[in-house]
Amino acid sequence: MAKHQFQTEIGQLLKLMTHSLYSNKEIFIRELVSNSSDAIDKFNYIKLTDEKFKDENWSGKININLDDKDNSLTIGDNGIGMNEQDLMDNLGTIAKSGTKSFIESLTGDAKKDSNLIGQFGVGFYSVFMVAEHVDVITKKAGEEQAYKFSTDGTGEFEITPVTKEEHGTVIYIKLKDEEKEFLSKWRVEEVVKKYSNHIAYPIMMHFNEEVTEGEGDDAVTKTVKKSEQVNSATALWTLPKATLKKEDYIEFYKSLAHGDDEPLTYLHNKVEGANEFTTLFYIPKKAPMDLYRADYQSHVKLYVKRVFITDDDKELIPTYLRFVHGIIDSEDLPLNVSREILQENRILANIKQNATKKILQAIKKLKGEDAENFTKEYNKVIKEGIFQDHLNKELLLDIVKYKSSTEEGTVSFADYISRGDSEKKEIYYIIGEDEQVLRNSPLLEAYKKANIEVLIMDDKEIDEIVTPMIGTYKEWTLKDITTIDAPDSKTEEEREEISKEFKSLTDKIKEVLGEDVKEVKTTTRLTSSPSCVVKDSSDPMAGMAHMFAQMGQAVPEIPLILELNPEHAMIQKLDKLENSDMFDDMAWILLDSAKLAEGLEPKDKSAFASRVAKVATEAI
Ligand code: ADP
Ligand code: MG
Repeated sequence: MAKHQFQTEIGQLLKLMTHSLYSNKEIFIRELVSNSSDAIDKFNYIKLTDEKFKDENWSGKININLDDKDNSLTIGDNGIGMNEQDLMDNLGTIAKSGTKSFIESLTGDAKKDSNLIGQFGVGFYSVFMVAEHVDVITKKAGEEQAYKFSTDGTGEFEITPVTKEEHGTVIYIKLKDEEKEFLSKWRVEEVVKKYSNHIAYPIMMHFNEEVTEGEGDDAVTKTVKKSEQVNSATALWTLPKATLKKEDYIEFYKSLAHGDDEPLTYLHNKVEGANEFTTLFYIPKKAPMDLYRADYQSHVKLYVKRVFITDDDKELIPTYLRFVHGIIDSEDLPLNVSREILQENRILANIKQNATKKILQAIKKLKGEDAENFTKEYNKVIKEGIFQDHLNKELLLDIVKYKSSTEEGTVSFADYISRGDSEKKEIYYIIGEDEQVLRNSPLLEAYKKANIEVLIMDDKEIDEIVTPMIGTYKEWTLKDITTIDAPDSKTEEEREEISKEFKSLTDKIKEVLGEDVKEVKTTTRLTSSPSCVVKDSSDPMAGMAHMFAQMGQAVPEIPLILELNPEHAMIQKLDKLENSDMFDDMAWILLDSAKLAEGLEPKDKSAFASRVAKVATEAI
């Protein structure tokens, strides 16, 4: 007999399970049944691929036994089972980052939190919401020795050798006094139907029933053991679409996603021909917690002829679609595919391509509130897709949305061009960190005046890399307004005229600012601001941000050009100012305040503040 201490994090988790997560306790059944189903999947696979098990007369089954005399519930399976090391690794410690991120993600809202349990791979521990004591009796397929893992959910567990006939696992749960509802056949059946109806193996329930035999004085009441199958035990995706209702799909999604939410949308496709396969995909309403973690969990399961192969292959669909839940079931792949083979398998590449298109088309079809929901949760990953997936660029560009200088909410490129100038075919955008700063940018003034829509891109880190890569959308060219001339009604000659007129001023300012700006010049793009800064579009680095990102390097700073508004009183006064020691201060203020308006920082913040104070004092 060996006593062990639970890993610290598991200790913490157990405390949470026993003391905090008291709503939705029923989900422990979903989690244990799901583990049993996984274990049967695994054995099913090795039976079909490993000679050693070929002759075994076996069919996967899950048993739930209710014992109201003993106050206990057992959930058992004839799956792969665990040996001593597996018990230590899988139940005594958590190798995955699961526990920690689970604890970090807890919201305090018990219902939401219990929905997180299955998502983080901490499902087994949910049993401690109802259990006073738990024994896991298990024997690994192909091994002789069986083991019992016992714990009452405090800091320790014990592993003892025991005997057991069949491979598989039985979880014996001694219920807490106040959890007797889980001894009721009706209650447990309700829970199984709710979450696990489409588990592909039969779930048999065994329970005691009082039966009365004879009549009147001869009547005797006896307790008899009864058994019933409580789930439909069909792999839902194998059924013909025509026989399935929306409710069936939603129910299946709940068991797949270990949650209670309905999906945003789903798509079920059977492809026949040279390459036969079925796919069933769901898009969740809420993005998973680990969407932006490098060690995110894959939610797509691969089956071959209904035999589960893996749920841990991130190559099944493109990484930017990592929020999609679902199933791929191939008729053509060999059962004994190894991970390496999967990587470069033509059949699978073909399935992946088809699946990606279908998923993107389903997303494109979303309307109204659903489309908004999608944008809110997944717009950023769609931008990732534009970066990664050139094959589906067009579909992705139909899905991605941006804020707009003229519209509420978000708009698509298609919306933009429906309103834009169809002669010029240009899509204008501005990129920055802060929506408000962008909206108030002096660079937008001329566009506002001319009533031209500009896309406001405030995912700076991503947009700076992705947008220049887009280039065009349906023959419309994307233009960064910080690098192009603004729309106005002046002719080239008129502009040159103005520039000459202010040449001595712009030269003098450039002299003061030195290397801090590449150039100082007049502009016609401003109406109410005296100055603005723009990026030098002739700089070889401009437009190459994505290359740096691809090489994993920081995007270099592109030199700035300071532009002055010749119609602004401040510029006109400054032009006439003679021999004033204020000039230098004013030159710096023009640059620094223009930088601030674009969300950039002045080079020397305290110098900026003291210059403003100095100038203001003069003005009073
Ligand atoms: P997850 O199922 O997400 O991995 P769980 O906490 O539900 O997380 O289970 C932890 C691990 O314990 C499983 O990955 C599996 O290796 C093992 N396990 C749990 N239940 C069983 C079972 N009935 N048969 C075999 N292994 C099991
Ligand atoms: Mg589990």
